[in-house]
Amino acid sequence: MLKNGRANTAADGDVHEIIKNGDVGDRVDIVFVGDGYTEAELPDFHTDVKEKWKDVTDIEPYTTHAELFNVWAVDAVSTDSGVSGDPTADVQKNTALGSHFFCNDTERLLCVDLPRVESYAGKAPAADLVIVVSNSEKYGGAGYSGVNSPVGYDGVATLSSSHDDSGQIAIHETGHSLGLLADEYWYDESRYEGDETGSINTSVYGADEMAQRQAKWHRWLGEESPDGGTVGTYEGASYNAYGINRPTDNSMMRTLGREFNLPGREAMVAGFYRYATPLATDRRTEAARKSIRDPELLKLVDTK
Ligand SMILES: [Zn+2]
Repeated sequence: MLKNGRANTAADGDVHEIIKNGDVGDRVDIVFVGDGYTEAELPDFHTDVKEKWKDVTDIEPYTTHAELFNVWAVDAVSTDSGVSGDPTADVQKNTALGSHFFCNDTERLLCVDLPRVESYAGKAPAADLVIVVSNSEKYGGAGYSGVNSPVGYDGVATLSSSHDDSGQIAIHETGHSLGLLADEYWYDESRYEGDETGSINTSVYGADEMAQRQAKWHRWLGEESPDGGTVGTYEGASYNAYGINRPTDNSMMRTLGREFNLPGREAMVAGFYRYATPLATDRRTEAARKSIRDPELLKLVDTK
């Protein structure tokens, strides 16, 4: 009767339309899949999806562009309530998506079985981004990029249902998956020694050289940013304290609860329109570039 933690019930795989703003070909289709919810807990999952989406659309540029999105919820019915690694590493749960904390020996890294996610996300009418909500109060999450799903999405974000920062984690993770933004935080004294980066919001150039080269966020230099201060080149980003710059001191890509900075907002809107226009099918995702972001999510939280 039980296979891979998936409870064999009629409700398993049901698709619910949470928000429908338009045709799936014209919109960004966000698909939520729940893990660690038993059949009796499915109403909780639907409530959690609505709450998370409200958190996301409370921040710009989501608020202004909320009509670009459809939101779907796919029911995955788990045998057990809760997920593995909650509260401690030795806790094993039998769940539909195999969510587990302590991924890569990092307590807050919440990993998931991607093929199982695919089997559920594929049931939605369309899937441009998948968010897995784990039935948990524990702090954690992860962002997968370059997933190359046959269904169409290339990003998967994970978060827990009932931690106060979960909505913020969702927004931050979509910064990676939709905005293609790099992390703007660091956690050691290391120095970046490489060439100019491939990411939108990090650069080895200082402001003068960036302006001279008309590179990266040069058009925003000196502008007042919604996350506070002015856009410039601030040292420290992408896990390195030195040798690499970010656009502002403290944006959402550095600290949860903050706004995106101006280059970040622009990248997010561009990301929305990668999916929200008919040309969105031409994405040429680099093959096999699968990565897990945010190995130490704890560092994202404002430690007062
Ligand atoms: Zn991140």
